[in-house]
Amino acid sequence: MSRKLITYPNPVLLQPARPVEQIDDFIHLLVEDMTRLMYENRGIGLAAPQVGESLRVVTVDLSGPDNQEELTVYINPEIIHTEGEITSEEGCLSVMGYQSRVSRFEKIKIRARNLEGQEVVQEGEGLWAICMQHEIDHLNGKLFIDHVSRLKRAIYEKKLSKWLDPKKE
Ligand SMILES: [Zn+2]
Repeated sequence: MSRKLITYPNPVLLQPARPVEQIDDFIHLLVEDMTRLMYENRGIGLAAPQVGESLRVVTVDLSGPDNQEELTVYINPEIIHTEGEITSEEGCLSVMGYQSRVSRFEKIKIRARNLEGQEVVQEGEGLWAICMQHEIDHLNGKLFIDHVSRLKRAIYEKKLSKWLDPKKE
């Protein structure tokens, strides 16, 4: 099976993803595909719905595609504690041609399982916290453009509909 990156407004991106019940070969192959596509598209995080699988799986590597040194896999991640607020510029591999400032919690604590099925609790701030909130949003069918003002969103939707159908006014 050859998976590829899917983009908004594909409906898989807009629905809540199912929890993973068993970490089997299917999940291992999914994680391989996600990791490959994340690096190929020069991302630092990816959620399974972005490759068309409605499952609660996230890959993150903040060292980036040129280093590939800090790959972490989160199965069924949940935010269990939040603190503070931080605003930064975000973009998304599944949302073509758009970036915007988004407000997030500054620090978070999450609980998840790793690829070996062990429970992991991780706490962090900065880029990691922003990235995790962005990816967990994907698992809930939410995109970063859901956080921007209605006006900015409307301008983006109009631009996008022209890209998708250039004949449209
Ligand atoms: Zn994204």
